[in-house]
Amino acid sequence: MDDETLDFFTRLSSPIVRDDWKKSLNALFVLLRRKFVFDNLAIYLVEGTGSTPEVVYARAAGRGRNKEAEASWGEEIANQVISSGKVTEVTPVKKLSTDRTAMPHLLGLPLILPERRGALVFVRFGGPKFTPEQMPLATLAATHVANALEQNILRESLTQLEHARHRAQLQDDFIATISHELHSPLGFIKGYTTSLLRSDTTWDKATQQEFLAIIDEESDHLLTLIDHMLDSARLQSGNMSMDFQPVRLDSLLRDMVQRVHGRHEGLEIILNLASVPPIQADTVRLSQVFDNLFDNAIKYAPGSKITISLQVKDSWRIITFADMGPGIPPEHIPFLFERFYRVPGQFSKSGTGLGLFICKQIVHAHHGRISVKTAPGKGTAFRIELPLRPEIVE
Ligand code: ATP
Ligand code: MG
Repeated sequence: MDDETLDFFTRLSSPIVRDDWKKSLNALFVLLRRKFVFDNLAIYLVEGTGSTPEVVYARAAGRGRNKEAEASWGEEIANQVISSGKVTEVTPVKKLSTDRTAMPHLLGLPLILPERRGALVFVRFGGPKFTPEQMPLATLAATHVANALEQNILRESLTQLEHARHRAQLQDDFIATISHELHSPLGFIKGYTTSLLRSDTTWDKATQQEFLAIIDEESDHLLTLIDHMLDSARLQSGNMSMDFQPVRLDSLLRDMVQRVHGRHEGLEIILNLASVPPIQADTVRLSQVFDNLFDNAIKYAPGSKITISLQVKDSWRIITFADMGPGIPPEHIPFLFERFYRVPGQFSKSGTGLGLFICKQIVHAHHGRISVKTAPGKGTAFRIELPLRPEIVE
């Protein structure tokens, strides 16, 4: 074996470690094609007995035919290879046509995976025939393909397991959060009501007012919590209908800021609002999104100023909502918009982890997008992109 061939085999034998198995296979076949000519290849897999093989990967290496068409003529040989478990070759009986593509030379190799069977099919249009000397190389390629597929299957199962574990953890956290969230306002309401009702004590008017104000505030808190839970359940099941009307986002944001100022006097809010033509949106639901973002900024970035900007980019309206608070550590960002997710270690701050989930669902119902940019110590900025007309977005 010369040095070049040795190097080639070494590279071909190096383990496939990439996360993206399709990229691994692309690299493998580019390398393989230097020594083993083929026009096209397809990988078929079958799960269980009796089902039909499915193309999981196809590559057109040359001669301009599209991948799907190539993969479909490999079906018959793939079936044969899978049922026999043997290397199979099909050559055209005789020259039938001047069109090379009508005379495919096919080589099918079995793919042995622990719980699946499959076939790797190579094609040469109009020849040349596959030779016995080329078989070890084709077999080595098939072993690599089987490894890459198996690694991918294992990786997918692992991801699914992690997601299931994460969901179970969220449910557990939710039960803990929700019991705390329901308990504490109810505890206040019950405590202050019992005090007011005591027959052995008389409360002066001012104290009565104070207790009633607490009861009122805590009842509001409970109502919001229950609304949040109902909204999130309706949004999750797709049962919340949107009432799309022309909405001027600049006016809506200005009104909201006024209302928030009414409730939080010292809050510094900077507005950079372009004057934009109306968009089709549901005012009540959009206000709910902005309310949630205000609520979060006030809760998690206390004392920080809030900057809200509105811009136009093509047929999109872009709203950014930024605070200069503590920010969010990067490991939590992928989960922020999930139901019940709260960054751990802030349980002194009340919340259910539903606010951002609701925001995301409402923005999606407008065919928009919501994302976050944040870094510890650098503040948090939410970005909402809304299309001019939700119905024209694909
Ligand atoms: P809810 O909104 O249902 O009352 P919540 O505020 O905990 O509860 P979300 O609004 O979904 O839930 O927010 C999820 C988590 O994201 C919060 O618990 C908080 O940790 C983090 N977060 C959200 N906004 C900010 C922000 N502006 N700055 C820092 N952390 C934030
Ligand atoms: Mg919130």
